[in-house]
This record gives sequence, structure tokens and C-alpha cells, in this order.
Amino acid sequence: MSTSKQIILTSLLLFAGIACADSNIDTTKEDTITEDGAASQVALTAALESSSPTVPTSPVEEETVKQIQAKYSSAETCTKIERKLGSVYPKDCEIGGLEISGVSVKGTPILVKEYPPVSSRKPLGRVLLVGGIHGDEYSSVSIVFAWMRKLNQFHSGMFHWKVVPLMNPDGLLRNKAQRMNDNGVDLNRNFPTPNWETESQKYWVERTKSNPRRYPGPTPLSEPESQWLAKLIKEFKPDAIVAVHAPYGILDFDGPRTAPKRLGHLHLNLLGTYPGSLGNYAGVQNKIPVVTIELPYAGIMPTREQVSSIWVDMVGWLKKNMHTIPQEASQGGSVESRVDATS
Ligand SMILES: [Zn+2]
Repeated sequence: MSTSKQIILTSLLLFAGIACADSNIDTTKEDTITEDGAASQVALTAALESSSPTVPTSPVEEETVKQIQAKYSSAETCTKIERKLGSVYPKDCEIGGLEISGVSVKGTPILVKEYPPVSSRKPLGRVLLVGGIHGDEYSSVSIVFAWMRKLNQFHSGMFHWKVVPLMNPDGLLRNKAQRMNDNGVDLNRNFPTPNWETESQKYWVERTKSNPRRYPGPTPLSEPESQWLAKLIKEFKPDAIVAVHAPYGILDFDGPRTAPKRLGHLHLNLLGTYPGSLGNYAGVQNKIPVVTIELPYAGIMPTREQVSSIWVDMVGWLKKNMHTIPQEASQGGSVESRVDATS
């Protein structure tokens, strides 16, 4: 990287730090700020709960992933997340199943947990669930861990899940969490949408006034994290994608199928599409329905009831909207039906 680029980047990061400073209620463990009552309730109850055309497939990148896998354990990375976030617990890491699948700018593993099909039934479809695209949206990571607790207990094979609790580990795991990755790039503006070179720069300069928190990067898929997710989408071929963000307190939707009107206490409010966003890339361009969940607060978890009701409504919407027709009628006895209602 040239010196001038480094200076620009450093400036961007400094600005970003200032921009973040007053916009987040920090609930990280490192800062020892406790969460509100609702989040504490979640903690207590949780303790009781047991075809993208331009995706690069670089051999160098694959080699790096192998090196990182050899160097780190997924449990170690999970523990770093657990130490940072008040609503993620040691048990979430001890249960295992998170695997290193990608690598960030700084070489931090990106973890994925797969809930594969079970032998007794054909899944209705493949679902990709992604949290923490923006590193300072803590609740978007914590809620994915909360939902993984449900899947750990109740996965019934209704769907084939791949769950990414934290796509932007460098953004979260630094001393002062930031929206962007370690290159100062907003990963949710870095996906290859049409006319990216002109549209994303224009949007960034004119609409965001060159806000460093919205910097789309120098080229589409310039970042290892966005490259990795695009590759995962290409290989996994999800029938639906659920991406979790905060703090707008609404649902957004891109792509085919009928959008959910509400999930739990969150109501549909279409925000429009942005150049380089995941919704634009996967939903509009690649015709994969993308549900974007915007939680109301970046630093405060929804109540336990809200966490559950969003999940139940989401699963209900997925059941109605998966294109795969089940080949065997559900033999759903009462136990299976009960499980389905909560998984
Ligand atoms: Zn976000």
C-alpha cells in the first residue's frame, strides 16, 4: 500500500472512530457496561436453555484459509467474540460446530456453523443466516448466537442452514468496534452490483457526503470478507438469505418472493437498494430473497420474547417461501410438529 493510501486510510479510520463514538450504546464486556434488564433476562434464561459471475476463487486465498486453520482453533476465535459481547456465553463456544471458513483482512477466522439435512427428511431449502456484517452492531451478532442455541437444541432438518454469526470479525474484535472492516471498507457496499465503479462512488460522495462509515472500497469485492461471502453464496446456493443489522428497528427485503410483513415486533419498511449492498447483489441481481433484519438497538439485545418471536415468524415465512417442494410429505407427528414450531 502506498504512503498516500495509508494516510487516507488512517484519516478514514480516525473519522470513523469519531462518527462511532456517539452513536452506540456500548455493551461489550471489555467496557464492563452491563446490559439493560431485558438483556439480563436473556442472559439468565439463555443460561437455562440448553450464481455470481465475478466471484474470484483464488488459490492463494484458499491457501491462507488452510494456514489460518492450522494456526488458530475456531474455539479460540469464538472465545474472543464471547469475551467481547455480553450476550454470548462460554457455552456457545464449548458446544462446538463452528468452523473456520474464511479469513479477514487481519487474518482473523470467519466462522460458520452448518446445520445439515437429517436423514429422515428432505429440507425445504437452504438458508444462509449472517450477522455482524457491520462490526459495531453488537446485537446483530448476539442474536445469531441466540438463534444458534435454538438450532443446537431443535434442528429438525426442516432447512439446511449455514450460519455466520460474525462476518466482519476485525470490525468487532478491535479495541473500539467499528462498522467497517480493517481496510475501512463498508462490506455492505462492496458487493459487485451493476455499474459499481460509477454508481457506488457517486452514491458515496453525493448521498453520504463521503461518510467514511459508508466507504464502498476501491473495487467491487476488494475485501477478503466480501469475496468470501460471495463465494459461499455461489457454492452453497441458498434459497434465502437472512442478514441481521441494527439499529433501524425495521425489516427490509430484496429479491423475489413476497416480503414478510412483519417478523416479531419488526415491520416491513423498504429502505430501497444501495449500490454494492448484499440485498442488491444477492436479492436483486441473483434473485435470492434477502430478508434484512434491522434490530432497534446496536448495543441492546431485544427481549427474550422478541428474540423468539422474530425467529418463529422468520421460520414461518421461510416455510411458506422456499421454492423446493418437499419430496416426502411431512409425517409430522406431534413431537416433530412441536419441534418445527420452535425451530
Ligand atoms: Zn448494518
